[in-house]
Amino acid sequence: MPILYLVIPCYNEEEVLPETSRELKEKLTQLIKTNKISKNSKIMFVNDGSKDKTWDIIKDLTEKDKIFRGVKLSRNKGHQNALLAGLMTSIEYADITISMDADLQDDINVIDEMLEKYEEGYEVVYGVRSSRKKDTFFKRFTAESFYKLMKFLGVDIVYNHADCRLMSKKALAGLKEYQEVNLFLRGIVPQIGFKNTVVYYERQARFAGESKYPLKKMLSFAFDGITSFSIKPLRMILGLGFLILFVSIIIMIYSLVVKILGNTVPGWTFIVISIWFIGGLQMISIGVIGEYIGKVYYETKARPRYIIEEII
Ligand code: UDP
Ligand code: MG
Repeated sequence: MPILYLVIPCYNEEEVLPETSRELKEKLTQLIKTNKISKNSKIMFVNDGSKDKTWDIIKDLTEKDKIFRGVKLSRNKGHQNALLAGLMTSIEYADITISMDADLQDDINVIDEMLEKYEEGYEVVYGVRSSRKKDTFFKRFTAESFYKLMKFLGVDIVYNHADCRLMSKKALAGLKEYQEVNLFLRGIVPQIGFKNTVVYYERQARFAGESKYPLKKMLSFAFDGITSFSIKPLRMILGLGFLILFVSIIIMIYSLVVKILGNTVPGWTFIVISIWFIGGLQMISIGVIGEYIGKVYYETKARPRYIIEEII
């Protein structure tokens, strides 16, 4: 039976932790009893530099019950880093990890389904929100636009999948190869590969506390996601440069015609042609530099060039 670690990042979650720990413990105990997972399975809370009693609660839980474990980060490092810390700590003990938010907005019953998929041989199982009825219109709209924008920019992410996912030890070992500082797990995990699938669940409303992702953090998260995975914006500059150069040719013809017809003040033709032509050239030059910066960007990330699944 596989050892399962549930990895739960927590930032100022004192209001939800007592209930969350109770529900998760119930779930895990039941899975252990029905022999689906090993009795060494744990619930691992990662305290991401909380300013409230979160760590005290986690400490208390671990003292009372061996099923709980805790990891404390030295300060607030953000959801993605907290999650990575939890996953990388679990890799030593666990055969599989399932990550989830502390507010249980992800239905914990997907755990059973995810485990079934693992038994069928899937190394990564993405939890996907089948609907977001409980989200506000604003949250739903911004989140879904974000997934669409990422697709448009050529980033391979799973639509409406947040960080609720099962990863096997193999997949985690793959994740470990990614050393990048600007961490956007939703983009990295599909890069790792391996046999993967999705399971669907209804996203619930937060039962207590408030979202730790206010608009400002959400925007910076989205911006980080895009700039950590796509060099398309740089390519767009080059495209724009060629477009302007093309326009400059049209303007050239137009202003020469106007000049020949004699409707201009002296110097006008020269200035208009220069502005457009030089503008186009500059834009193309920036685009060319962008291409090289794009290369530097990929080199500095030092992503693994391949991950071997098996050798026979
Ligand atoms: N979180 C974290 N560090 C942060 C912000 C959030 O570990 O700096 C955790 C938080 O405790 C929760 C998860 O990330 O478990 C998702 O946050 P939240 O539920 O507030 O986001 P939302 O569901 O509103 O997008
Ligand atoms: Mg939430």
